[in-house]
Amino acid sequence: MKATGFDAFLEGALEEIELAGLTRRLSPLETPQLPRVTRENVKVVNFSSNDYLGLAANPDLRDAVMAEWERGGFGAGASRLICGTMAAHEELEEAIARFKRTPAALSFSSGYAAAMGTIPAICGKDDVIILDKLSHACLIDAARLSGAILRVFPHNDLNKLESHLTWAARKHPQSRVLIVAESVYSMDGDLAPLSEMVNLKERFGAWLFLDEAHAVGVLGPSGGGLAEQLGLGDRIEIQMGTLGKALGAHGAYIAGSRALRDYLINRARSFIFSTAPPAPVAAAATKAIEISRAPEGSRLRELLWANIRNLAAVLESPMPESAIIPQIIGPEIKATSASTALLNKGFLVPAIRFPTVAKGAARLRYTVTASHRPDEIQALGEALRNLQFTDSESSV
Ligand SMILES: *Cc1c(COP(=O)(O)O)cnc(C)c1O
Repeated sequence: MKATGFDAFLEGALEEIELAGLTRRLSPLETPQLPRVTRENVKVVNFSSNDYLGLAANPDLRDAVMAEWERGGFGAGASRLICGTMAAHEELEEAIARFKRTPAALSFSSGYAAAMGTIPAICGKDDVIILDKLSHACLIDAARLSGAILRVFPHNDLNKLESHLTWAARKHPQSRVLIVAESVYSMDGDLAPLSEMVNLKERFGAWLFLDEAHAVGVLGPSGGGLAEQLGLGDRIEIQMGTLGKALGAHGAYIAGSRALRDYLINRARSFIFSTAPPAPVAAAATKAIEISRAPEGSRLRELLWANIRNLAAVLESPMPESAIIPQIIGPEIKATSASTALLNKGFLVPAIRFPTVAKGAARLRYTVTASHRPDEIQALGEALRNLQFTDSESSV
């Protein structure tokens, strides 16, 4: 029977995943996304969330959601181009443009969708896309989907990036050349050498797609990301960011010129052929951007950076450039057991494994938010001192 064969195929594949120590399971939270959460009836301190500013359960976002519910209802009912564009979407996009100091912006239902819609709209099979080796899966998938010629440079290696640009200029002089990079790398927490990268791409007449997923809210005077921090926003063709991490809402954006927005409305398939996000979700994101730009945002960033400093001290890590601190363990199974040991002590720190990171480069990925209390970070330090893997087994 066909169905049996199908299940046998799935079960066989799952067994292989299990043997490699790579099984993934879902563990629902029974509480909101906060520093202390309950998961499968166990209370843990959460060092794994990307809710860096602690806005995911913020009452002002709730009020914005409720107000928008009254004004615009919930479901958008159609794609943006049919009849799903609500006032809340346009207000969000105006807020993003002000936040990013770009002429325009377009929101997407997720960062994944933003990348998948935008990159293939810009580049096709005759073009060249050059990516950092550690680019997020959605950037890689989008580049592949575009059908463009792909080149990858080792993480943050500007010399290799330059040699790819030289190669592209010589071999494909008629092609569009798009560099794809992140500002904060999601599994390593380090920054791209953005100033040098911008200079380089200008020298070659290439374009830059910058994914600020983990920088928005965290870096820059108003939380506008690394481009804002370095004052480079108007020299970057395509700025992407997410609304579901530090901003505590959901969705993502592409910010840039008015022509970029108009072009994507006409060409980005993940935008065109997908139901618009619920208006209250857009309203929550607008409120979060307002908070990030207000004195309250600066206060939250101060708390966040104080917590980052404390966490780095506890982990004996050099001062991080973002709210992400990786502790490289190596073998997948070892990382998983380290994560389990921490869980048993009441700390949620996920093991990040292949294919999210390279095989044999499994790690614990610690993140911290503005809402963590100093004693929670100290308690993590205590727990780590009492655990084997940090003393004898791991080589950070
Ligand atoms: C999370 C993330 C995305 C995807 O954004 P979603 O809104 O979660 O789909 C894209 N790029 C990077 C670097 C990310 O970390």
